[in-house]
Amino acid sequence: MPRYDLHSHSTYSDGLLAPAAVVARAAARGVDIYALTDHDELGGLREARAAADDAGITLVAGAELSVTWESLTIHVVALCIDAANAVLADGLAAIRAGRTLRARRIGDALALAGIPGAYEGAMKFVTSERLVSRTHFARYLVEAGHVASVKDVFKRYLIQGKPGYVAHEWARLGEAVGWIHAAGGQAVLAHPGRYKVNGAGMLRLLADFRDAGGDAIEVLSPSHTRAQFTEFARHARVFGLLASCGSDYHGPGESWMDLGGLPDLPAGVVPVWNRW
Ligand code: AMP
Ligand code: MN
Ligand code: MN
Ligand code: MN
Repeated sequence: MPRYDLHSHSTYSDGLLAPAAVVARAAARGVDIYALTDHDELGGLREARAAADDAGITLVAGAELSVTWESLTIHVVALCIDAANAVLADGLAAIRAGRTLRARRIGDALALAGIPGAYEGAMKFVTSERLVSRTHFARYLVEAGHVASVKDVFKRYLIQGKPGYVAHEWARLGEAVGWIHAAGGQAVLAHPGRYKVNGAGMLRLLADFRDAGGDAIEVLSPSHTRAQFTEFARHARVFGLLASCGSDYHGPGESWMDLGGLPDLPAGVVPVWNRW
């Protein structure tokens, strides 16, 4: 059975490896069908495509869109998109512009919390001038000795309720799904187990996602426990959504799981690739 990994990042967003290096690593780890899904960005796909051709693996063109649903930030992975589509490109450009403004406000918030110069510091860690993420702030705060690890920076500074957190409006769910469909792609609700919702909230999110035209959910993600693999497989069946899987790889030493590290999808779900 071919091995799929349909969620990962490169230096075009907040990953540590260039697209060609991530693709080579995926191939070396036994991945047959691989999606590069940089945050709000398609710029790495050309390099990834060439590297995938060299390595003899199949590249799926993707992205991970930042979305605001109710008061939460959620992520929607786009798969099998036409990277030349202008509707999607314009939507992603708008999200990226919002990131730059938010980054300045994160810098201001951290200064108030006693950490000056964080915006400039984060910029030193940015690997694509088009995209700044909280991850770049986290790497800077570790380097500057404020916190021991990237995970601790999030816990202490960058998540809701902490001093460096800044509320932000991303794309609306319906907009994001519309852009993905305009580009011929599938919309996949990323790592649903990560969202801070109760049981009723999860059912509402899944219903809203399906009603917005969403196609699939990530059943397998390193953010999920084994029990959640089963739980989200059931949700996929009940809501008539396809199932996807991805390691969400960001680079050596900074990831929950390496490329290709997930098990096979549970029985009883329809894989997202059945429609390809
Ligand atoms: P942003 O899209 O700029 O808000 O940044 C979100 C990114 O931060 C995610 O894609 C992850 O790569 C990273 N991230 C979020 N939460 C954590 C966490 N608790 N520990 C480590 N990285 C995290
Ligand atoms: Mn990330
Ligand atoms: Mn995500
Ligand atoms: Mn991701």
